[in-house]
Amino acid sequence: MKNRQILVTRSSMPDFEEYANEIREIWNSRWLTNMGVKHQTLEKDLKKYLKVSEINLFSNGHLALECILKAMDLKGEVITTPFTFASTTHAIVRCGLIPVFCDINKEDYTIDVSRIESLITDKTCAIVPVHVYGNVCDVYEIEKIAKKYNLKVIYDAAHTFGEKIDGIGIGNFGDASMFSFHATKVFNTIEGGAVAYKDKVLNRILYDIKNFGITGPETVEYIGGNAKMNEFQAAMGICNLRHIDDEILKRKKVVEKYRERLGSTNGIKLPPLQANVESNYAYFPVVFDGYKYNRDKMFEILKENNIIARKYFYPLVNDFNCYKYKYSSKDTPVAKHISERVLTLPLYSDLELEVVDNICDIILGR
Ligand SMILES: *Cc1c(COP(=O)(O)O)cnc(C)c1O
Repeated sequence: MKNRQILVTRSSMPDFEEYANEIREIWNSRWLTNMGVKHQTLEKDLKKYLKVSEINLFSNGHLALECILKAMDLKGEVITTPFTFASTTHAIVRCGLIPVFCDINKEDYTIDVSRIESLITDKTCAIVPVHVYGNVCDVYEIEKIAKKYNLKVIYDAAHTFGEKIDGIGIGNFGDASMFSFHATKVFNTIEGGAVAYKDKVLNRILYDIKNFGITGPETVEYIGGNAKMNEFQAAMGICNLRHIDDEILKRKKVVEKYRERLGSTNGIKLPPLQANVESNYAYFPVVFDGYKYNRDKMFEILKENNIIARKYFYPLVNDFNCYKYKYSSKDTPVAKHISERVLTLPLYSDLELEVVDNICDIILGR
């Protein structure tokens, strides 16, 4: 046990034969990318699985987010949170928009909806909230605010693949939602991502933007980029999607074990249970607040035992070297408090329950 390193995550993969079968046709067709048969199949499969009306695939989640922000032709300020992966803010800035950081709430670490209105100015064009760890934002309140001020809402749903709120697929909330299919996510296409949305007008624009803005054999309409998902990525997605429900169920068992073992310990705060949400058990973030060890000490103790947890999200985006000239985590005290105390524990579908027990023993000092 001690010799084997346990990492925070481990990518889900189909059997080698299943993937080999899936990519065999590509050798015959020589259609390797540019929205081929696998791409089309995966789009169709995902629409059905995510219960969304429109979806567009991308080479990764980050470019999916950049492309949808571009496609909506936004200008000005965007309200978002610093308690996220670098990608969310970078996408906003790289699209020429100005991020305005809103604090998170201390219950589920998503955007504090009671603070959004005070940050809205006449320059605000959109809200980019993040569903963190699989915890969903207060989508109903966000919708109310967006309607009142005529703002677009683009969710970073990278952590919430396949989740449902009150039985509705998470990709149906807001104007658009970005999903990441990175190797470390609940569902992966090696690298990959998607945007789900309702407005059919976006279909063509997104398709063109991810393909250099080429709209016809002799016309280039937009200053697009290259963000196409290739056929090998799509084939991996087709295979992984066949097993996704089973993968999520196995994650659930791991999470239940963690909850059972760590649930009633003073100073250890577990992720919230959101009653109206069908979870995907993406992450297991534990907040050490008033426990006998602080987060950094806990991280070291686990590491000495070959358990590699992750300080996720730390540091906060507004403390990154590239942003701290203009922003400060002092303005988002709840996010700062959580980011200094949170540790994301190992969680993946084939993590053995005995290993989870062992991790809990170490945390509890037994
Ligand atoms: C993974 C992730 C992204 C970026 O997705 P990629 O597919 O890795 O480009 C964006 N936002 C969040 C919150 C993420 O976790």
